[in-house]
Amino acid sequence: MPPRHVYVHVPFCARRCTYCDFSIAVRRVVPVNAFADALGRELAVRFPPGEQWEADTLYLGGGTPSRLGGDGVARVLDVLRMRIALPEDAEVTIEANPDDVTPEAARAWRRAGVNRLSIGAQSFDDTVLAWMHRTHDAGAIERAVDCARGSGIANVSLDLIFALPAAVERSWRTDLERALALEPEHLSLYGLTIEPGTPLGRERHRGRLVESPDERYEAEFLEAHAAVTAAGLEHYEISNFGRPGRHSRHNRSYWSGVAYAGLGPSAHEFDGRQRRANASAYTEWLRRLSEGADPVAEREVLTAENCVAETVYLGLRTSDGLTVSEAEAGRARSWIEAGWGTMDSAHRLRLTPLGWLRLDTLAADLTLIRSRY
Ligand code: SF4
Repeated sequence: MPPRHVYVHVPFCARRCTYCDFSIAVRRVVPVNAFADALGRELAVRFPPGEQWEADTLYLGGGTPSRLGGDGVARVLDVLRMRIALPEDAEVTIEANPDDVTPEAARAWRRAGVNRLSIGAQSFDDTVLAWMHRTHDAGAIERAVDCARGSGIANVSLDLIFALPAAVERSWRTDLERALALEPEHLSLYGLTIEPGTPLGRERHRGRLVESPDERYEAEFLEAHAAVTAAGLEHYEISNFGRPGRHSRHNRSYWSGVAYAGLGPSAHEFDGRQRRANASAYTEWLRRLSEGADPVAEREVLTAENCVAETVYLGLRTSDGLTVSEAEAGRARSWIEAGWGTMDSAHRLRLTPLGWLRLDTLAADLTLIRSRY
């Protein structure tokens, strides 16, 4: 069965944000036609000719898909639709930088079939946005939400980053309040991690920057949980909140272990047993496709141990939790006493926000027990 969920990586960005280690291609002028043509070639090279399939979700991530502009996104969707049917109720998301969301672009995206916009807000503090080297200010986020709604895109998600270094003055409470005042259908909140090779990583290496202490991460995570759930959004995955019926259907596919396709440079794909990743650099992905070759760079077949570890880790990170055996339930009782989880009569174990703060340790613990049986 072809995958019902499709991810397309659009690598173009206006410039690199200080914390970013994604596979991006900085371009002043976005080569829309070259990218769309290459996507068409990737579909032709990798999927048998003539085969058409239907997808439940399509997600254009990046990079900055909104840099394709109104017509560019429509062109990319046209290319994808030549092979992938998107029914009326499919969830079609694009990630957007606030300053790319104009009324004209949003209307063109909506006309092309986009029904969900994930806006990279990150903060509502202009000083913090400048520190992150973002291209937009706080006012642009508010205008972007208005444009999305005005165009008929009724499903809007905002991304925010928390746990900034102590040296950066920022009111997390104010950022949450300003995000919630826009009444988004969905919020994704990510703790800052400083990766080597990024501008922030180099600052840390030179001793000019110290990562946020764990206490700040924990306090802001718990503060967000309290504020966002009080506003009516459900905390349905460690980093994600959504109004009822507005959880990300696409991201759910990653956490539930079903197959998904990945197209574009650096895109990852999973067929239920094997993972693959495309060549990371845009130019290399383009070169291979121009030669008619598959742009794959890595493949990994999951072992039985990998599958156990993934099932446990992915299950525990969502509010669905996972069903545990008698032996596992015995181990989890101490977590429940500590306030890290709950368990119902059917042995469904779910982590609380306090448990999510210990996700890696608890998942490793449970995996060890599960591997023994
Ligand atoms: S816009 Fe997103 S992908 Fe592009 S550099 Fe910034 S964080 Fe990275």
